[in-house]
Amino acid sequence: MSVPGPGAELPAAFAPRLIDWQRRAGRSGLPWQGSRDPYRVWLSEVMLQQTQVSTVLGYYGRFLDRFPDVHTLAAAETDEVMALWSGLGYYSRARHLHRCAQTVVLRHAGAFPSTAAELEKLPGIGASTAAAIAAFCFGERVSIVDGNVRRVLTRLLAFEGDLAQTASQRALWEQAQNLLPLHPSADDMTAYTQGLMDLGATVCTRSRPACELCPMQPICLGWRSGEPQRFPIKTRTLKRRHESWWLLMLLLRGGQDRIWLQRRPASGIWAGLFCPPVYPSEEAAREALGPMQAGGLAALDAVSHSLTHRELRLHPMLMQLQAEPQGEAWPDGQWVSVAMLEQHGLPAPVKLLLQNLFKPSLFEAAAAGSN
Ligand code: SF4
Repeated sequence: MSVPGPGAELPAAFAPRLIDWQRRAGRSGLPWQGSRDPYRVWLSEVMLQQTQVSTVLGYYGRFLDRFPDVHTLAAAETDEVMALWSGLGYYSRARHLHRCAQTVVLRHAGAFPSTAAELEKLPGIGASTAAAIAAFCFGERVSIVDGNVRRVLTRLLAFEGDLAQTASQRALWEQAQNLLPLHPSADDMTAYTQGLMDLGATVCTRSRPACELCPMQPICLGWRSGEPQRFPIKTRTLKRRHESWWLLMLLLRGGQDRIWLQRRPASGIWAGLFCPPVYPSEEAAREALGPMQAGGLAALDAVSHSLTHRELRLHPMLMQLQAEPQGEAWPDGQWVSVAMLEQHGLPAPVKLLLQNLFKPSLFEAAAAGSN
């Protein structure tokens, strides 16, 4: 009698193993776990995209304190939303979040739709986030397929398709649907969906899958192949363009130190956030100041910052003033005092530069005062 190989038992065995493992050994106690409130689940899912759990924890609590439900978020000023998001990166998420809240309030009377198909029609909600909300909050039998889950499933299935191809992505999504539990309760769907996330985040990690600890090892085709790290297969790798920016840090010293900030354009890098004036070269930055340069412009240490498609090299140039310039050519913008910095949405590297520039204690005192 032939014994069925791991491939044959895999589809039926996967979901029960995953649910059992998640309930015994998966993550628990994260503040968004156990909630069936679509607002909270949606917020956590958006924050967790490309961001570590440890980073999200503080932001999630602060965001909910200020915006406890979709109505308060929808009614907020965009600047306040961006300020609370400041430092989390990928700022288009915050803009979409705000627009999505407004859409839910205006078109759905404040109640999120209950199916993945309807959720996906909302601004900024992709297929995986829609599936997570539908599975966690409404028990829908639908699979999430984010980056972590793609890694787990391609290894589990020894999936040879090239994920740079749309057809392969679709085939993997179909496989993911085939692996779902057959007749799950809402609690089963919660454990299953959380289990997929937990397995990718804690066991089947990018560079060192802990196969010896993995509940899927007996049925995992990637492990059987001896080279689980070979998956996922993706031929097109992202090429980042290198770009240098010169930041004019104009600092007005006095009882209340102030910094000159511009709002970034509505689209592009750091859209809508506040930033010192940006120039493509040191000469351009000096020219913008004209005769003011006599006051002394000092180059600070450059810092690097990676974006999805770009590698930015930021060159801060500092000029300290004792009084507001009168009648000089001057870049557009506004003076912002240290105490008000926390009220402004700042890109993470700019926030760091400013923290280094001002005494950290001042910055922290301002933050504490704003809580
Ligand atoms: Fe990933 Fe290894 Fe588990 Fe397979 S056995 S799912 S490769 S950790």
